[in-house]
Amino acid sequence: MATINTLVTETNCPVCAQLSTFRIDFRYGECWMHLYSLGDDLRWGPEKANVGRPEDLRVLVEGYDRICPHCHGRDLNFDISIENNVLTSVAPLRRQPTENGYVVIGD
Ligand SMILES: [Zn+2]
Repeated sequence: MATINTLVTETNCPVCAQLSTFRIDFRYGECWMHLYSLGDDLRWGPEKANVGRPEDLRVLVEGYDRICPHCHGRDLNFDISIENNVLTSVAPLRRQPTENGYVVIGD
């Protein structure tokens, strides 16, 4: 059954810009409630459990947290960068979300 993964990281809140710890849910790679930190290798499983393709080397994945612990801003959207299957960075989402929840930005 497809589910979500979570990236736990310190980053700047999209609303108040304060550095806080966020739990950012996303759907990419093997979606099986994996818990990630920045710098981790993305995990891939059997084809049915995967979103996206491991051969796409540079991908931006949309992520979501419910609330900022600092300003209590809600429905926070992030952009998670994945390069060579490593979660490399996260930033506030500054583009239109896609239907897939991710966008491949090239090899
Ligand atoms: Zn905030």
